[in-house]
Amino acid sequence: MSNGDALTFDIEKNSKPATASERETLLQNPGFGRIFTDHMVTIRYSQDRGWHGAKIEARKALALDPATVVLHYAQEIFEGMKAYHLPDGGAALFRPSANAQRFHNSAERLAMPPLPERLFVESVRELVKIDREWIPTAEGASLYLRPFMIGSESALGTRPATDYLFCVIASPVASYFKGGASAVTLWVSENYTRAAPGGTGAAKCGGNYAASLSALAEGQREGCDQVVFLDAVEKRWIEELGGMNIFFVFDDGSLQTPPLTGTILPGITRDSLIKLGRDMGLTVREEPYSIEQWQADAQSGRLREAFACGTAAVVTPIGKVKGRKHNFTIGDGNAGATTLRLKAALTDIQFGRAPDKNEWLDRLF
Ligand SMILES: *Cc1c(COP(=O)(O)O)cnc(C)c1O
Repeated sequence: MSNGDALTFDIEKNSKPATASERETLLQNPGFGRIFTDHMVTIRYSQDRGWHGAKIEARKALALDPATVVLHYAQEIFEGMKAYHLPDGGAALFRPSANAQRFHNSAERLAMPPLPERLFVESVRELVKIDREWIPTAEGASLYLRPFMIGSESALGTRPATDYLFCVIASPVASYFKGGASAVTLWVSENYTRAAPGGTGAAKCGGNYAASLSALAEGQREGCDQVVFLDAVEKRWIEELGGMNIFFVFDDGSLQTPPLTGTILPGITRDSLIKLGRDMGLTVREEPYSIEQWQADAQSGRLREAFACGTAAVVTPIGKVKGRKHNFTIGDGNAGATTLRLKAALTDIQFGRAPDKNEWLDRLF
């Protein structure tokens, strides 16, 4: 049985790729996750053969039996990462081995066979190389990569699937929120929680997102952009947004972010910003922060800024917070100076504009 360590990719090029002019038109206004490149990666797993059949092929619809496990029991995990266009015409990934490790951890949590980390990174690298013409060059734009894995066996019995499909697709993206640096309004979810102790909050799985959508719809009805979730036990400790971690900036210049207690997704952007903040000489605490304290500190001025962070949305300032019992503005409601400084420090490394002292970039060509 193959553990996947020695797999190589069969390459079947798309016989009808987009023409250069079609691609250029699409790249002018990519939005987020709306357009896709010419190819995809697929690797299969079966109980008796292990990992096999690694392929780069034309992007196409997947054929799934209606009884496929993922369609019924949501045995699915994913990653989100980006390839960045560099000033010399090359391209790089940002900390891909951190995504590979997290994918491994998510697989274990959902009782899926872990894909070897080398194979994960190789898949993403190969896809970016074959679709390199799709990496956008506009300011702030990048090629978003979406590796994912599903239970692909057809069976309605509840148990882990025997067969799996790993797949990587790629999507050129502009910035996630319209307007880029403008601040978002958060809805404090009191009716819904996202993750409970012992649950899947620390795994990157589609089920967590499914569970967050009613809260998002509620927030959007209240005129908010995103939801901030509180802990499931005491309903007072701030955890994170539906798909982003959160940071607070205080009047003494210090930063704080909720600790990774198992119900929060361990963001790679979060981890990178903790390091960059400390490199700048700032104090960064990983400590719990309550919603009441946040409101009190925002009103007294002790809390100066807050921002959300993640691969898709990068660093997004938080301007206002609303809920049934809450309604407050952060600072003057716009992006704060520390938020913008951290965002610049991170994106300057990602786009190759600043020295990469931590060796975070993985250059592709
Ligand atoms: C992916 C994700 C994040 C951000 O992680 P990054 O590695 O920084 O992209 C934060 N929260 C949730 C729930 C996520 O799924």
